[in-house]
Amino acid sequence: MAIIHIRELPDPILRQKAKRVRNIDGSIRRLITDMIETMHAAPGVGLAAPQVGVPLRVIVIGMPEDDDIAIINPQIIRRNGERLVNEGCLSIPGYVGQIKRAESVRAKGRDQNGKEIRIKADELLAQALEHEIDHLNGVLYIDHLESQDKLRKIEPEETQF
Ligand SMILES: [Zn+2]
Repeated sequence: MAIIHIRELPDPILRQKAKRVRNIDGSIRRLITDMIETMHAAPGVGLAAPQVGVPLRVIVIGMPEDDDIAIINPQIIRRNGERLVNEGCLSIPGYVGQIKRAESVRAKGRDQNGKEIRIKADELLAQALEHEIDHLNGVLYIDHLESQDKLRKIEPEETQF
């Protein structure tokens, strides 16, 4: 296991579209283990592989008081509603911005054994799924800001992804 350096803007990997995982093998499982360890060592509840320098479609999410989730080739298949949230990103340290996210989402993908998983999520988990899947498409939360004055300095207890 290893803690991996988290890439920050303006690292160009954060703007690349990540590639689909074709074979879920030992190297992918090792990547997931390292991403989970890195996420827990950082003040974040989610991490996408491009944030640790790997341009593949893999995300991990660690909700407080829930088991960690790893999803390979994740996709949002449905979004419902809209709400305003404050969002921060481990790759854009020091800031949070107010943006719109879905109230709830449905997502699917594969687990580390290749089995299909489907997730119905709302609140923080829905926000994390949208945030991390955005990372796989080279999209950052600052792209969703209506204006720059919706961005401010982060408070210590605020959530980052
Ligand atoms: Zn992020």
